[in-house]
Amino acid sequence: MFIFRRKVYLDNNATTKIAPDVCRVMEKTLRTCYGNPSSNYRDARDAVMLLESSRKAVAHSIGSLPEEIIFTSCASESNNQLLFSCMENAPPGRNVIVASPIEHPSVGKALEFLQKQGTVVRYCPVDSQGRVVWDALVSLVDATTALVCIMYANNETGVLQDIPGIARLAHQNGALMMSDCVQALGKTAVNVRELDVDFASFSAHKIHGPKGIGAAFVRSGLPVVPFIHGGHQENGLRAGTESTHNIAGFAEACRLISHSLAAAGRITRLRNELAAGILKILPSARINSPFGTAGQWSICNTQSITFPGFDAAEAIGFLDYNGICVSAGSACNTAANEPSPVLKALGLSDEESRQTLRFSLSEYTTSGQIAYTLHILRNYLERRAMPVTLVHPNQADESFLFNEKVFIVDVRFWYDRKILKGLPRSYETSFSELRTHPDMLPRHKNILIICQGGTISPVVAYFLRAKGFKNLSFVAGGAAGWKLFQPDLYNKYGGSDKQPLIKQRAERA
Ligand code: PLP
Repeated sequence: MFIFRRKVYLDNNATTKIAPDVCRVMEKTLRTCYGNPSSNYRDARDAVMLLESSRKAVAHSIGSLPEEIIFTSCASESNNQLLFSCMENAPPGRNVIVASPIEHPSVGKALEFLQKQGTVVRYCPVDSQGRVVWDALVSLVDATTALVCIMYANNETGVLQDIPGIARLAHQNGALMMSDCVQALGKTAVNVRELDVDFASFSAHKIHGPKGIGAAFVRSGLPVVPFIHGGHQENGLRAGTESTHNIAGFAEACRLISHSLAAAGRITRLRNELAAGILKILPSARINSPFGTAGQWSICNTQSITFPGFDAAEAIGFLDYNGICVSAGSACNTAANEPSPVLKALGLSDEESRQTLRFSLSEYTTSGQIAYTLHILRNYLERRAMPVTLVHPNQADESFLFNEKVFIVDVRFWYDRKILKGLPRSYETSFSELRTHPDMLPRHKNILIICQGGTISPVVAYFLRAKGFKNLSFVAGGAAGWKLFQPDLYNKYGGSDKQPLIKQRAERA
C-alpha cells in the first residue's frame, strides 16, 4: 500500500465516488430484482417496472419525456450512436457536421470515422477561454449542414457553451443540434427543452452513479437507428439485456442531482480558493478555465492550470505520493506522447500542455482538502525535498544508460512494447507486479523507471519511494520522449539486452 497521509480525490471529471444511496439501491436490485425484463413472469415484470421508473427519473432530471431516453452502456456509446444515426438519416444534400475541436474523443474519433465515409466535418475555432467563436460558427453552418455537435461543458477546462444560441442557429439553417452533456449534468442545470437540443448524451459515473451505464436523449419524433443490433430492447434501438442494477443506480444518482446542484456555490468557492492559492505560490501559473468576469461560462468544479517549468506527469506522481488524485491536461501516456487537443485549441503550446493539471472537485470535497492540496503543491512548486529525480531524455545518453550503478526498470504494458523499443539493459515488469513484489528490485542501485509516455513512471517511482527505496528517477516523456530526443541512440540500442525482471536476476544485478 501507498503511505498516504490523506486521501484527496480531485479527479471528479474522470469519474466520481459512488453515492452511498446509489450503492444501496444497486445492491438491493442485484439481490432482489434479477429477472430479465424480456421474460414473462412476475420477476421479469418487476424488472420492467424498475426499468421504466428509472427511465422516468433520468428523464425528469434532464427535462425530457421518458420515451426520449435510450439506455446505453456509456456516454461514448451514446455519442457514437447519435452521430452515426444522424448521418444515416440525413436528408439528401446535407452531409456536413459542424463541431468544435474540443469535443470528447468519443465524438472526435467518431467524427474522424464518419469523415472517412464521406461526411464533411467543419471545425469551429474556440477562443483562448475555449468558447466557440460565434462569427466563425455563423459562417460554417449553412443549408448543407445536417448536424451541429457542440458539447455543453468541456471535460478538461469546464468551459460552458451557449447551447440555446447555437441550437437556434442550427435550427434556423434546418440542421439538427446535438450536445454532449456528460460534464454539465449535476454541475449546472440541464434541461433539454431549454437547451433546445435534438440529441444529447449522459453518463452515470460522472454524477456519483455506476460505471457502465449511459443515456442518449433523442427528441420525440426524430428517427434514430440502433448502434448495437440483435434484440428488441430499448424499443428496438439498443440490443442487449438491460443492465437493471446499473440503470437503477443511474436513476438514483439522477434523483440526487439536486444535492450536487445545491453544493455548486460552495464547490465554486473551493475551486477559486485553489486557483488563488496556486497563483500566490506561482504567479506565472496560467488558469485555463474561464475565470473572473467570464466565470459564469464555467462549470463549478473544474480548474485547469498550467505550471510553467513543471512537468505535469511528475507533479501527478508527487501529488499521488501525498494522497492527492488529479489528472493531466494532456493525454501524454499515449505512444506518441501527444499533447491534449483541447489545450492546443485554446492556444497552448505542446510544452505548456504537458505542464497542465486538471483539478476537478465534487460535493464531497472539503476546504481542509483544498488547504492540504495547496500545502503539498507549495512543497512541490518550491521544490522542497524532492524524493524522486526527473531525468530529461537528453540526459539518457550512453554514459548514463551503460552505468553499472543504474538499474533500468521498464514498466510499460505489453502492447506499448510492440509500438516502441525500450532502453537498453532494461528489466521488464509491470506496475502491478512491482506493487506486490517491490523486493524484486535491488535496494543498493540507482533505479531508473521508464514507461511509454512518462505518466506512469513517476507514480511508480513515488510508490517505490513510499516503500523505502532511496535512489529513484524516471525518464520524462518515457520511451516516446527518449526516441524523440535521442533518435540515434534509440536506433542503435533501443530494446537491446532487455530481460524480464524476476527476483533472482535483480539480486545478481
Ligand atoms: N463526454 C465527455 C465530455 C466526457 O467527459 C466523457 C468521459 O470522460 C465521455 C463523454 C464518455 O463517457 P463514458 O465514460 O460514459 O463513456
